[in-house]
Amino acid sequence: MLSLAGGYILVKGMRLDYKIWTVILLALLSVLIDEDHFWFQRLYLHNIFIVTALALATLAFYLMKQEKAKGYAMILTVMVIGHLLVDMSYGQGLHLMYPLSRDLYVLPQIGVGVNKDLQVEVAKSSSLTECIITPTGVVLAAYFGLIFAMIAAKKFQ
Ligand SMILES: [Zn+2]
Repeated sequence: MLSLAGGYILVKGMRLDYKIWTVILLALLSVLIDEDHFWFQRLYLHNIFIVTALALATLAFYLMKQEKAKGYAMILTVMVIGHLLVDMSYGQGLHLMYPLSRDLYVLPQIGVGVNKDLQVEVAKSSSLTECIITPTGVVLAAYFGLIFAMIAAKKFQ
C-alpha cells in the first residue's frame, strides 16, 4: 500500500503519462519480492543490492534514452524502497546487507511521547501508541520527502 501510494504520487507529480493500471502492476511487482518470505527467510530479495540493481537499471535506461523503461525502473526502485521500509518497521527486521552479512536491521522501536504528568518521555514498544514521534513516522516522512524531492528536481529540469 505504501509502495502504491509512493509510486502513484511519483507518477502524478512528474506528470508521467502512465495509466493507473500500470502503477498498480508495478506495485504488485514490488510485492513479488515477498516470494522471499516463504522460501528464503527474506534473504535474497530484501536487501540494498536489489535496490542498487534497480537504481542502476534506471540509470542505464536513462543513458540509453529509453524513457518508458527508465520511468518503470525508477518507480519500481521507489516502490521497493517503500516495501523494505515497511518490512523493517516491525518484527525481526531484514538482512539488509545480505550476502555480505546476515545481520538483521530493524527500525528502532522507541519514540518520543508525553506521559500522564505531561512530561516528555522516551517510550518503548508497548507504549508506542502514545508517542508523538516514532522512528517509523520519521522514516515514512523521509520516504515521502524523497519522492517529493524527486518531483521537485524534475520540475526544475
Ligand atoms: Zn517483504
